[in-house]
Amino acid sequence: MAFPTKATHQQTRARNASIVLRALFESGPISRADVARLSGLTRTTVGDLVAELLEAGLAREVGRGPSTGGKAPILVELVDDARHVIGLDLGEHVFRGAIVDLRGQVRRVVEQPVTGLDGDAALAVVYELIDTLVEAGRETLLGIGVGTPGIVEATTGTIRGAVNLKWQDLALGDLLRDRYGVPVRIANDSRAAALAIQLFSGRRSGNLVAIKVGRGIGAGVVLGGEVFHGDGFGAGEIGHVVIDEDGAECRCGRFGCLETVASSRAIEQRATEAKGATTELTLDEVHAALDAGDEDVRRVVVRAGRYLGQAIAGIIGVLDVEYVALHGSVTDLGATWLDAVRDEARRRSLALTGGAVAIEIAPPIGDLVVMGASALLLTAELGLAVAR
Ligand SMILES: [Zn+2]
Repeated sequence: MAFPTKATHQQTRARNASIVLRALFESGPISRADVARLSGLTRTTVGDLVAELLEAGLAREVGRGPSTGGKAPILVELVDDARHVIGLDLGEHVFRGAIVDLRGQVRRVVEQPVTGLDGDAALAVVYELIDTLVEAGRETLLGIGVGTPGIVEATTGTIRGAVNLKWQDLALGDLLRDRYGVPVRIANDSRAAALAIQLFSGRRSGNLVAIKVGRGIGAGVVLGGEVFHGDGFGAGEIGHVVIDEDGAECRCGRFGCLETVASSRAIEQRATEAKGATTELTLDEVHAALDAGDEDVRRVVVRAGRYLGQAIAGIIGVLDVEYVALHGSVTDLGATWLDAVRDEARRRSLALTGGAVAIEIAPPIGDLVVMGASALLLTAELGLAVAR
């Protein structure tokens, strides 16, 4: 590793610009004096940098704030739609692309079903969606962020392996950079979602674990405000950790993975068996039966919740983060499921018994993967980092 050397003038300036932008992002409308006070930068430096942001159209003046004795100061705020990024969620059944502004607001969405598509055909859909969105405004496009299933080399954007899409060592980052000529960030979808929850849920802690519980199960870990990828880019891949030695065969070839006991498919299959139904129950039907007080179905749901709670206890035992956010289709099952998750996690974990760790269903803040993929870009390009 290179020994860190003194920052160049340019690096210092870029860092300061990013600090000012972030002050406007988090605290605007705000006076230049307050930006200086918040950031520790001199008033002259802040004045120069704000002038540049105004010039670039990234900030604007919006009247005067309350006077603190002298002349009332002019307030400055971020222009939310001055730039935009394209965010993509390469979901299980649908690929979704969106134009997202600097504030993380989704301005436009396009989507395409991809059931049964993989390989080059799936890649063609990615191009098609981005082509459509790029047309909406190339001049203000900052870059492209993509949340994809599978193991992703975060540094290069190469997808090492996404089983369902049959993508193996696909250099998606390079392909998109070459085709569109803008910065590109690619992340595993669970991690993108974790970042979105961190940024947009309004919680100020820099640490969290966000677990998607749908057909697949995966966790995203955010530590100190940053997504933790792991040495092999596999951090949070809890879905294929064996949790039931005598369990059923998993799509990965192992037996008794967490996905075989706690995913939406596992719940649907068990509920179908429990009711002796001839066609497989959907998650919605399981939910309806639960609401109707069906005891067999309740047992199935509680069992699935407990297995997830067991996995969470292990995670908290290592990381001791104060917030575990759950999202994905299974969270629709509501309180019965959530209580089982919490009870089992608490039963198995010392850190959890004190009740300091909140295990909650993530707030409904939109397409988490799209927002997280966009946030990766905003953070990388503008330094609009998470609140800490
Ligand atoms: Zn597995």
